[in-house]
Amino acid sequence: MPPRMPNWRALKWRRPSPGPPTHDVGDPFAVARERMVEEQIAARGVRDERVLAALRAVPRHAFLPEHLGHEAYLDTPLPIGSHQTISQPYIVALMTELLGLDGDERVLEVGTGSGYQAAVLSLLTREVFTIERHADLATHARQVLARLHCSNVEVVVGDGTCGLAEHAPYNGIIVTAGAPHVPQPLLDQLAPAGTLVLPVGEASSQVLEVWRRTPAGLEREEVTPVCFVPLIGEHGWRDDVCA
Ligand code: SAM
Repeated sequence: MPPRMPNWRALKWRRPSPGPPTHDVGDPFAVARERMVEEQIAARGVRDERVLAALRAVPRHAFLPEHLGHEAYLDTPLPIGSHQTISQPYIVALMTELLGLDGDERVLEVGTGSGYQAAVLSLLTREVFTIERHADLATHARQVLARLHCSNVEVVVGDGTCGLAEHAPYNGIIVTAGAPHVPQPLLDQLAPAGTLVLPVGEASSQVLEVWRRTPAGLEREEVTPVCFVPLIGEHGWRDDVCA
């Protein structure tokens, strides 16, 4: 049975109160999702009520292969095909919180994957562009996002290490794959006062970094160790990085 969707518009503009009811009787995973938010996300220090409300609202199971739906609210990344993963819920929440969205931003996500992170962002900001190098993943994500009425998300196929110049500048950029260094095009496409959140480091382990464009120039902050699949492209890793 398809998941019952929240009232996206109500959640999007309600601030700072947390948003819609979560125990929807039509959603068999509502209780598991609430526990995920309380035990994996809020308990680890994510405080932004809008972010917590978005994580409560988005049906993570809808973005997974059907046979993995029952694992959707576990504290872990999960496979989505093409050797890629949907990120751990806590990391999705943390990176989203670090973007510091108010509701009126243009956001670029690099690494659409399943589309789950894009759906979370769609509740928290005005428009989301998300770019994925695997066309099959992009097609699937587009279908799920359409089914959930995430009408402010556009999925693009391409090399996100080059950004998406035609819609730049972005108030927020989030990269959901591990980069060897911060791709220069992403810094170039960051608006004044914009925030870029990305994992930087080795192919198998990285540090989550936040870059902010301030009047005094770019500022960089290191947040926490993370582990993402590699960001592959012209300004990232070579395709054979894991060979
Ligand atoms: N955000 C995703 C979600 O919510 O399911 C999870 C992303 S997964 C950890 C990383 C994704 O980045 C993969 O789908 C991978 O194909 C993609 N990717 C890697 N390099 C890329 C690039 N240069 N441009 C676009 N996507 C890229």
